[in-house]
Amino acid sequence: MGFDFLRSITSVFGINMGRRQTQNITAIIFDKKGKVLSVGKNSYVKTHPMQAKHAHKVGLPEKIFLHAEMDAIIKCRNLSRAHKIVVTRVTRSGKYGNAKPCPVCKSAIKEAGIKNVEWTI
Ligand SMILES: [Zn+2]
Repeated sequence: MGFDFLRSITSVFGINMGRRQTQNITAIIFDKKGKVLSVGKNSYVKTHPMQAKHAHKVGLPEKIFLHAEMDAIIKCRNLSRAHKIVVTRVTRSGKYGNAKPCPVCKSAIKEAGIKNVEWTI
């Protein structure tokens, strides 16, 4: 499975991207066999208590809007099977951007027990 798969899954989920969103960030959680357990998207309007909890924990309380990694973790029903999280950022022009998880998401990923983290650059 290469990054072309990720680009297509990202563009599929990007169809509902709001007009104001210029960056499309998607986080995908995989199990050990490479099966997709959940897909998360960033939002500029949605919040979540888990986002707020980790934002406060790492001293960035202004980061209230839902990040893709957080969304994927919240949606994952089998976190115990979560093996890897891959974060992609695709710009409107279709190029990859830096999707390195921020401190808030790093905190959530650590708490979720996901050891492998990959992102587009
Ligand atoms: Zn984040």
